[in-house]
Amino acid sequence: MKFIDLDTQYQRIKANVDQRMSAVLTHGQYIMGPEIQALETQLAEYVGVKHCIANASGTDAIMLALLACEIKPGDEIIMPPFSFFATAEMPVLLGAVPVYVDIDPKTYNLDASLVEAAITTKTKAIMPVSLYGQCADMDAINAIAKKHNLFVFEDAAQSFGATYQGRQSCSLSTIGCASFFPSKPLGCYGDGGACFTDDDDLALAMTELRVHGQSKRYYHTRVGFNGRLDTLQAAILLAKMDIFPEEVLLRQKVAQRYSDALQSHYTVPYINEGNMSIFAQYTIRVQHRDQVQATLQQAGIPTAVHYPVLLNEQPAIAGRDASKGRSFPHASAAAAQVLSLPMGPYLSEDDQDQVIEQLLKLT
Ligand SMILES: *Cc1c(COP(=O)(O)O)cnc(C)c1O
Repeated sequence: MKFIDLDTQYQRIKANVDQRMSAVLTHGQYIMGPEIQALETQLAEYVGVKHCIANASGTDAIMLALLACEIKPGDEIIMPPFSFFATAEMPVLLGAVPVYVDIDPKTYNLDASLVEAAITTKTKAIMPVSLYGQCADMDAINAIAKKHNLFVFEDAAQSFGATYQGRQSCSLSTIGCASFFPSKPLGCYGDGGACFTDDDDLALAMTELRVHGQSKRYYHTRVGFNGRLDTLQAAILLAKMDIFPEEVLLRQKVAQRYSDALQSHYTVPYINEGNMSIFAQYTIRVQHRDQVQATLQQAGIPTAVHYPVLLNEQPAIAGRDASKGRSFPHASAAAAQVLSLPMGPYLSEDDQDQVIEQLLKLT
């Protein structure tokens, strides 16, 4: 059994992918070819915002958002300590200072009720992470941001395709940052990402920043970097978008089936009212995680831990935050207990049943 099965998906879309890739190889515009614009138009429409800026990874998407909003050394950014490293890494790379705020133990997302107490005169932005594919508490976060004049960046690397109060992830903040890493809900066959915004000025800034800050050929008005998406990856994403809405539904089915079978014995994902998770991960909590993982491993079932070490404890950036004196009991408990199970639109019922059977045996 695979943790995420990309083969079955490829077999399904092979003709479409191969034909679109072949078209790129024929026209030869490998950099910023017409597929980029086509993808941006389609994704902006899907998300329901004015602008999509395709780029080279979810990490670059975060960097572009920070640069566009002119985040500077010393600026504080409020974020959860329970996320992938890039959430804090890009701010720190710019000299900005993460301020960690604990998570809601049920959803694993930033606890909005703790955010206001963490705001200082240096706070410039809030960066909620829509972890495991469920949007953070965006209305509450946006209300605080509005009151204190802060930017909001949704780290939507795991949540493209999710909805919040009927609105799409990536449309819920100043800039939404998506990742198209192969194993994300919408993934390409390499690295990829995108920024989404309704703000014309920020969109122009990000469009230029991703191409060395040039406003016309060889004329550079901003300091950016090379953060473009490959045309080939855009072609692949266009093919995948043809089946993405159906995959969203298939993911719901798998998650629902897991939850029905497991909820009497395990803490299964808790989805807030008004949210539809895309289930980038299906993550439960277990007490003796090493033992559970080993047992599943022996039965041929791969699992993963997202994430075992909190951002404030990562050696590279420990002490680089301004959350001193704060503790994160809910994030710490989650880091010790979470376990992600095999997940994906093509996970067969047989495979699901195997996972369920092994987990129930352990109870
Ligand atoms: C995957 C991920 C990223 C980084 O995306 P890449 O495309 O791998 O650079 C950032 N934040 C979170 C929460 C992620 O899961």
